[in-house]
Amino acid sequence: NKQVIFKDYVSGALKESDMYITTSTIRLKVPEDCTNGVLVKNLYLSCDPYMRIRMRNFQGSYFSPLKPGSPISGRGVAKVLDSRHPDYKKGDFIWGITGWEEYSLITATETLFKIHDTDVPLSYYTGILGMLGLTAYAGFYEICSPKKGEFVFISAASGAVGQLVGQFAKLLGCYVVGSAGSKDKVDLLKNKFGFDDAFNYKEELDLDAALKRYFPDGIDIYFENVGGKILDAVLLNMRVRGRISVCGMVSQYNLEQPEGVHNLMHLVLKRIHMEGFLVYYFFHLFPKYLDMVLPYIKQGKIVYVEDIAEGLENAPAALTGLFAGRNIGKQVVAVSRE
Ligand code: NDP
Repeated sequence: NKQVIFKDYVSGALKESDMYITTSTIRLKVPEDCTNGVLVKNLYLSCDPYMRIRMRNFQGSYFSPLKPGSPISGRGVAKVLDSRHPDYKKGDFIWGITGWEEYSLITATETLFKIHDTDVPLSYYTGILGMLGLTAYAGFYEICSPKKGEFVFISAASGAVGQLVGQFAKLLGCYVVGSAGSKDKVDLLKNKFGFDDAFNYKEELDLDAALKRYFPDGIDIYFENVGGKILDAVLLNMRVRGRISVCGMVSQYNLEQPEGVHNLMHLVLKRIHMEGFLVYYFFHLFPKYLDMVLPYIKQGKIVYVEDIAEGLENAPAALTGLFAGRNIGKQVVAVSRE
């Protein structure tokens, strides 16, 4: 059983050498004393920025730290090979928390979801049809209270969450601009995801001036994925009664000391509502979300771009790449395609 092992707690920038590959043996049967255990073959693994937060020895967070010397755990899509759980049987496809390894014995089955719709790519359950889709849905509709015609700005806009938020906002009739870190990503935003405009934040010396160029009348809704300097510039450009949905702050995850934010007084002056959220508190909306998004995918009203790294041995590079912006779209690792 090939596995990706988390070496030890990380300080500073995540490196591929913070993880290593080993091989061990595993019996492809659920042990008799393992009530409710499910033995799976992992197909697709999700690379997510929050995994970096789990690589700190910090207990006060919602995410428990990863265990040094153990396989990395995260969300993935898998096929059931053997089961002692009444809800899962051999041959079923599931998504949920699994290990970065070829085969996993899952005992925390409350984190698993059975996959019913298999006429879409199974890898989608690491993203648009899983936790990240729900993140975009809840973070936009529940936190931002969006209305047709509003001006929406999204950072890390071509990533897993950002590309979906932008398309939801367009379907509602908003004016949508995204920022991303390369020309290819900017082209994708404008030509594939249908954003009204997009810019490469790395080429803008003055982010405040850039936002004024794209939003001369200000921003109603900011979907925050990045934090730091972008947030500071956005605060200067929000409209009265604007809303900021704080989904994440990926620019801060590799830093030992978070950057300061200077323009928070604008929250007061413009009576802005800024709210953080965690997707885990919105799982009750998952069936409603799937009812909305599955037809959109099948009718081609929403497109979805994935960046699939082949093979477990490429997983450390794929995860590290998130923080250098190497992924174009949702970063997935294909462990096996069947
Ligand atoms: P992405 O697919 O967007 O990948 C991360 C992207 O972030 C990179 O491609 C890069 O894009 C950008 N990035 C990386 N480092 C920096 C930096 N220093 N400055 C600016 N941009 C940077 O990731 P996801 O869509 O999976 O996640 C997006 C956000 O959503 C994250 O903050 C994540 O933590 C959060 N999240 C929150 C959840 C919740 O429950 N609140 C659940 C899931 C995700 P670029 O090239 O454009 O710079």
